[in-house]
Amino acid sequence: MPINLEISKTLATFAQQAHEVAEHVFRPISRKYDRAEHQYPVELDMLAKVMDGMREGAGHGVGAVGRAKHEPTNGAAREVRNGSNMAAVLGMTELCWGDVGLALTIPRQGLGNAAIAAVANEEQMQRFQGRWAAMAITEPEAGSDSASIKTTARLDGDHYVIDGEKIFVTCGERADAIVVWATLDKTLGRAAIKPFVVEKGTPGLEVVRLDKKLGIRASDTATIRLTECRVPRENLLGNPDVGVDRGFAGVMKTFDNTRPIVAAMSIGVACAALERTKELLASEGIITDYKSSFYRAAAAEAELYRLEAELEAARLLTLKAAWMADNGLPNSKEASMAKAKAGRVGNAITLRCVELCSSAGYGETELLEKWARDSKILDIFEGTEQIQLLIVARRLLGKSSDQLK
Ligand SMILES: Cc1cc2nc3c(=O)[nH]c(=O)nc-3n(C[C@H](O)[C@H](O)[C@H](O)COP(=O)(O)OP(=O)(O)OC[C@H]3O[C@@H](n4cnc5c(N)ncnc54)[C@H](O)[C@@H]3O)c2cc1C
Repeated sequence: MPINLEISKTLATFAQQAHEVAEHVFRPISRKYDRAEHQYPVELDMLAKVMDGMREGAGHGVGAVGRAKHEPTNGAAREVRNGSNMAAVLGMTELCWGDVGLALTIPRQGLGNAAIAAVANEEQMQRFQGRWAAMAITEPEAGSDSASIKTTARLDGDHYVIDGEKIFVTCGERADAIVVWATLDKTLGRAAIKPFVVEKGTPGLEVVRLDKKLGIRASDTATIRLTECRVPRENLLGNPDVGVDRGFAGVMKTFDNTRPIVAAMSIGVACAALERTKELLASEGIITDYKSSFYRAAAAEAELYRLEAELEAARLLTLKAAWMADNGLPNSKEASMAKAKAGRVGNAITLRCVELCSSAGYGETELLEKWARDSKILDIFEGTEQIQLLIVARRLLGKSSDQLK
C-alpha cells in the first residue's frame, strides 16, 4: 500500500483547533501549574467536555482503526484510512506545543483509555465509555522489563483478586479507573500478563503517594497499592485465555498506538522551543534566512537549521507510524523508531534552545527552561530510548525478546 501522509482538511482543522486550545487555554496557565505541583488544573474540566463532544462526533478513539474520506488531489474518488491515530498525533503535537503536563492530564484522555481502545471487546468499550483511565504497568522492580511484573490476579468465583504495587502511574490519583497489568500465573511469563480495569473506590485499591518531579508537574504521578482488590471477571480486557502467542500482545498493541503519540508530544514541545528561540534570536539580529547558503550562516543560525532538520525527520517517522496504525499495518518497528528519534531529538532541541538563549533560556521569565525539563520524560516513559532501539534491532534482525535482551 503506498504511503499517504497527506493531511485532510478535516484533520488540518482539528490540528488548528488543538493549537488554539494550546495557545489560549494551556499557555496562560503553564507556569502556574508548573509551580503548583499536585494541584488539579480546574481549567481543564471545560476543555474535557468540549473534547468529549468532538470525540462523539468523530465516533472513535485513539487505537481504533478509523476510516475517513479524503479529498482527492487528482479528481478521482478515493477512500483512504487516516483516522484516529493520525488525529491523535496531530492533536497531541499541537497541545504539547502548549504544555506537555497539561496535555497529559486532560480528563478522559489517559493512557488507560488508549489501552481500552486497543484491546477491549465491544461490551467493554460500551461499559467503560466516558471513564478517565490511567495505566499501571511499572512496578518497583519492573520498569523497562515489563514482562517481569509481580502483581498477581487470581480468579475467585466471578471476581479476580489483584495484589501488588504499581509506581509512576500518570493520572493515578485523578483518573476514574486504572488499567492494571497483572499476571495470572507467574510461571508462564509474558503470556499470562493481562490488563484489568480497576475502578476508583474498589476496596483494596489505595493511592499511596504522589511523586514530585523534574518536569510535567501539572500531571499527577502516583504510587498505588492493590491489596486483595476484587474486580468483576468481566473487567479483564480482551481475551482471558493464556495463549502463549497471545498473552502479551495487549501490552504491545497498546504501545504500538501510544508510542507515536508520545513521539508527537516530543515534537510539539521541541517545536515550541525552536519557535521561541527563533523569536528571541531574531530580536538580537540573528534572522533565519533560508534563501542564503548554509555555509554563510552565523553559527547560531546554522544550528537552528540543523535542529529543524532533526525535528522534521522525527516528525516524518511519527506520521508514518500513525498512518500504519490507522491502516491496520503492523507498526511496532516504526512506532519504536519514531519514539526513539523524537524522544532524543526533543531533549536535544529543548536543551540546545536553553543554551542558545542563555540567560533568557535558563530563567523563569521564559518557558524555555520548563520545556527542557518537561521534554525529558518523553524519552523515558512508554519505553526508554534504549528499549525502543532494542525493539528496532530485534525487528530488523528477526530476533525474539529472549534472543536479544
Ligand atoms: C513521570 C513518569 C510518568 C510515568 N507514567 C507511567 C504510567 O502512566 N504507567 C506506567 O506503567 N509507567 C509509567 N512510568 C514508568 C516508565 O514507563 C518507566 O520509568 C520506564 O519504563 C523505565 O523504567 P525504570 O524507570 O524502571 O528504568 P529501568 O528499566 O531500571 O532502566 C534504567 C536505565 O537502564 C536502561 N535499560 C534498561 N534495560 C535495558 C536494556 N535491556 N538494554 C539497554 N538499556 C537498558 C533504560 O533505558 C534506562 O536508561 C512513568 C515514569 C515517569 C518518570
